[in-house]
Amino acid sequence: MLYDGQCHCGKVKASFDTQKPPQQLGVRACQCDFCRRHGARNISDPDGRAVIDASADDIVRYRFSLKTADFLICRHCGVYIAAIIGEGDNIRSTINVAGMRMMEFLGLEEAPMEYGAESVDVRVGRRFEKWTPTHFTDTELNASFYGPH
Ligand SMILES: [Zn+2]
Repeated sequence: MLYDGQCHCGKVKASFDTQKPPQQLGVRACQCDFCRRHGARNISDPDGRAVIDASADDIVRYRFSLKTADFLICRHCGVYIAAIIGEGDNIRSTINVAGMRMMEFLGLEEAPMEYGAESVDVRVGRRFEKWTPTHFTDTELNASFYGPH
């Protein structure tokens, strides 16, 4: 199943390919301050695939706290698109389905998630294990996200 979404202004598009129906995949509501401010609702599937279609110029990266991921924001409309870790052929993402309006995932029961107690190693390991293999249409975006080199 292929799901599509885009930010408010439409400059950033994302597609998400998964074998699992939305109900089974589940939607997470991270309880960190950043995600709460955005009303973020996230999905990922380590067996799926995601594509983020945008020019590097359309994207702002924001890092905070442990700085172990880049939170991608649309430079034009301010929507939080996805969080990203890794580089090159090994990029993983968690997509914000609320920001990208992936309708099939909205209105489902959300699982509140609390990651505040994780160490850096645990957090990075979890992200590589659980997030979705991802690539960018603009390969300039492949280069410099957080991750082991
Ligand atoms: Zn936008």
